[in-house]
Amino acid sequence: MEFSAALRQLIQVPQNVAIFSHRNPDGDAIGSSLAMRHYLEQHGHTVHVLFPSEYPEEFEALPGAADALIWDLQPEECKQVINKKNLFIFLDFNALDRIDKMGDYLRDLPAQRIMIDHHLYPDPIAEHMISEPEASSTCELVYRFIDSMGDRGKINPNTVGKCIYTGLVTDTGSFRYATNPQVFRIAADLVERGTDDTGVQDMIFNSQKEKNLRLLGHCLSNRMEFLPEFKTALIWLSRRDYEEFDIQRGDTEGIVNYLLTIRDVKIAAFIHNQPTVVKLSLRSKGSIDVQEICKKHFKGGGHKNASGAYSHDSLKATIDKFKSILPEYKDKIWTNA
Ligand code: 5GP
Ligand code: MN
Repeated sequence: MEFSAALRQLIQVPQNVAIFSHRNPDGDAIGSSLAMRHYLEQHGHTVHVLFPSEYPEEFEALPGAADALIWDLQPEECKQVINKKNLFIFLDFNALDRIDKMGDYLRDLPAQRIMIDHHLYPDPIAEHMISEPEASSTCELVYRFIDSMGDRGKINPNTVGKCIYTGLVTDTGSFRYATNPQVFRIAADLVERGTDDTGVQDMIFNSQKEKNLRLLGHCLSNRMEFLPEFKTALIWLSRRDYEEFDIQRGDTEGIVNYLLTIRDVKIAAFIHNQPTVVKLSLRSKGSIDVQEICKKHFKGGGHKNASGAYSHDSLKATIDKFKSILPEYKDKIWTNA
């Protein structure tokens, strides 16, 4: 997809910009938002980054993370900032319900809107819609946008480069999936420009607390179920587990991926009773589409191989519902063996 001349012209003139990304921001949400912020600031724009909820601690080390405004913590400040903006940029999401109350707040405001995203089935939420489900990450799209502006040579390796590299690594499972040849070219280009790739990997993966490993041990020993008939594995966590292991934002990130390491598993599910809601994270291998499962049965969404949803039923009811829909997919699961 090409970035339109109108979009490029819009960015050439300094604007008062708010960048938004989704609830429970992950590496790609944070990386793309902060990369875009640093890039736009180089061009004289005034920029704020806003998230609906807090980001995991490991990303605190990213340049600019500390300045991001969090609606859950400071809604009035967020409103004041949003009111002054004439350009909204939506990154790494494609429907306003992904930014919760902030979406309702800004829905009817007059600012111009740009969306850059790689999830399936976008809502028409912006005049300038860059929707590329084939892209590995929104960070890849931000890089391509900077490139299309003729500014690849101006990428600062310690700000823009570091932030883009973060999203490339996290959304591709360290270059294991959802990759296209372009991803490696972008990574190589960033490293060549001086981005500290091993530093980024250390920040993300070698920054666990002891309690996270104990929680992982608990999940694998006591909370894992394997359903060979459906090539599906499941881990669940109760509200009590949340208390016992003092689970905070980000602490459960990545647990679902361990299920995929089982040879015969095609679908992995992590179903956990967060303090206010039950959250589902589904992952799959190959052509099995968990986005369809999340959308059809749980009103969620995401990507073909990585998707999520929320349930307002009890933990048990949600687990039972998940198991009860597996027969519908059994043929597909086995024909994709
Ligand atoms: P995770 O399971 O890590 O929370 O999310 C996996 C993918 O699905 C991410 O790309 C995320 O943006 C998307 N996703 C997670 N939860 C939801 C949801 O409730 N609705 C939609 N539309 N997408 C979701
Ligand atoms: Mn993403």
